[in-house]
Amino acid sequence: MSAKRSNETLDEDKSKKPKLEDPKYILPKPVTTFPATLPDRKKNIEYIVNLLTKKDPSLTTPKLKAIEIEYEIAKKSSNATYKTIFRQEMYKLSKPPKPSPKILSKHEMKVREMKILKEWVIPKEKLIKFGYTMEIPKSEPNEKITRECCRCRTEFRLKQQLEPTTCEFHHGTRQKGKYICCLGDMNSTPCSKTNNHVYLLNTPGEKQALKSFQYTTDIFKTKSEYKVLGIDCEMVYTTEGFELARITAIDYFSSKEVLDIFVKPFGEVVDFNTRYSGIKEINDSFLSWDESMEKLGMVMDSSTILIGHSLESDLDIMRLVHTNVIDTSILFPNRWETGPMRKWSLKDLASKFLSRSIQSGEHDSSEDSLAAIDLVKHFVKKELDRKL
Ligand SMILES: [Zn+2]
Ligand SMILES: [Zn+2]
Repeated sequence: MSAKRSNETLDEDKSKKPKLEDPKYILPKPVTTFPATLPDRKKNIEYIVNLLTKKDPSLTTPKLKAIEIEYEIAKKSSNATYKTIFRQEMYKLSKPPKPSPKILSKHEMKVREMKILKEWVIPKEKLIKFGYTMEIPKSEPNEKITRECCRCRTEFRLKQQLEPTTCEFHHGTRQKGKYICCLGDMNSTPCSKTNNHVYLLNTPGEKQALKSFQYTTDIFKTKSEYKVLGIDCEMVYTTEGFELARITAIDYFSSKEVLDIFVKPFGEVVDFNTRYSGIKEINDSFLSWDESMEKLGMVMDSSTILIGHSLESDLDIMRLVHTNVIDTSILFPNRWETGPMRKWSLKDLASKFLSRSIQSGEHDSSEDSLAAIDLVKHFVKKELDRKL
């Protein structure tokens, strides 16, 4: 009999571990410090039970746990300190536990960043609204024998563009009625003077007539190791209008420059636009158009996310139709700040969010690229912090 019973007990032990159960009545554990009366201690234990079950309704033995917690408090308090210590401990207990900061590996960080960047790629429809060329335009050459100077608004004969003349203009834009270059108003004497008039190719058709656009899906088919690039172009004025003269690309993740090439324009250079382009001459290091595109195709492919400020002009000047774009002029800071929708200059954004002064001297492609990348990084970091 006894042998059988012990067997049964063993079987029971195997299937059911003895369960802890809450006592029917709350009884504080004895302490020698006499911190409070028994009824007060009981009341406090009930209070803890409430708190515990509110925090975790699935708790099976809230009374046992509460008795333990109260006991720890009672042990270390005297009659004078019990109330205060109890209140302090209840405050700690009611606060949600601090989340332990997650430590992510470099790879995990990159995956998370990539996910955000992909979400920020601007939809095609929006790109079209902001002037991006999303389809190869029909070639429409400008047959007129004259052009309007984009600086001084003088009409000039195209054939005479290289003959010295006087072009007077303000090189800065106008803000609140004043030119930012010299703070002159509409009627002030222009602060800059050159010997030639210059012009832009204004319509997509005119651009297409000089050099065809190409879809990056057609020409950049080899997968690149760079998934996100900051890109920036510099242009010069030529007898063919405004042309590509330099491309720089910076890898988003390493901030390293992965491309910096100079491109030979098709027309004869009329003005190097040095103030903005930083270019002073054309030399042997300048690549042909096809060589340049080949080099660009080595660092990017059609799925590469390009980051830049008002990239529509850069893509147009490279005659590229590309859909994966993060444009800092469209995205920031309107995404985070309420207020009238307006385009911010890269200079203003860099100053406001990065406390960085750019474009103080000559324009530098890599400086601009890096500023656009760092702006995106700044906001990606904010987004990551928000999500963690
Ligand atoms: Zn001026
Ligand atoms: Zn002019």
